[in-house]
Amino acid sequence: MSRVFAIANQKGGVGKTTTAVNLAASLAVAEQSVLLIDLDPQANASTGLGVRVADGGTYRVLTGESALADEIRDSSMPGLQVVPATPDLAATERELLDVEAPMSRLRDSLKAVRERFDYVIIDCPPSLGVLTLNALTAADRVLVPLQCEYYALEGLSQLVGTIERVRASLNPDLSVHGVVLTMFDARNNLAAEVAAEVREHFRVFEAVIPRNVRLAEAPSHGKPVLLYDAASRGAYGYLKLARELLDDFPDAA
Ligand code: ATP
Ligand code: MG
Repeated sequence: MSRVFAIANQKGGVGKTTTAVNLAASLAVAEQSVLLIDLDPQANASTGLGVRVADGGTYRVLTGESALADEIRDSSMPGLQVVPATPDLAATERELLDVEAPMSRLRDSLKAVRERFDYVIIDCPPSLGVLTLNALTAADRVLVPLQCEYYALEGLSQLVGTIERVRASLNPDLSVHGVVLTMFDARNNLAAEVAAEVREHFRVFEAVIPRNVRLAEAPSHGKPVLLYDAASRGAYGYLKLARELLDDFPDAA
């Protein structure tokens, strides 16, 4: 039984990719077989896991040139495989407009492989365009990384509206699984206030990801934080998040 999670928030720089990479790695270290699908033309999740490709990857999967199975690569983390992104992925925002069922491309191509994995994690770009819509159509659940600052909730209503539209049309079973508080600074009163407000509207994971420089350094080594500094507070935060997720799906373990 596989679970497909889209990591989405159209706001830039809130910790989507850091969450996708390190949650995926933390699930892998818990002996789950995990596939990370990089749907961001910036390809930060791919390079952050030591996977760099010149062409292919998710672009070819979405355009129908490749089967998804043929674009799966090993990452620096045992148990974690990646379908990488390339810069030409950005072109899908216009190229897919002319094809049939453009928003179902990822879901359809994932069907053949999803049972091979316990968890599939999709890293989304900071927009609500064709790429994020493909992720939301393919996913069972959405995880929303959120940085606790002013206006954090304003962006959420737009994301929730998009999720509602996808539920009404392409993916009726989609739901928001929870909000992950990222770059959390316990000394900042505003962070605690925003966190309390988010809890009124959404399930918020108990695991809160602290602001931790190790999380920001690890990608330049092509590694998840678990392989870069396993004793860091950032690594601990993502291990705890993975544990909460595993507890939510005892049947999958
Ligand atoms: P984009 O919208 O551009 O895809 P994103 O939402 O994927 O961005 P990240 O790339 O994960 O966000 O994070 C933005 C920046 O903040 C990166 O430089 C990352 O290394 C850093 N960062 C993320 N989480 C943390 C954290 N908990 N502590 C310190 N730095 C962090
Ligand atoms: Mg990102």
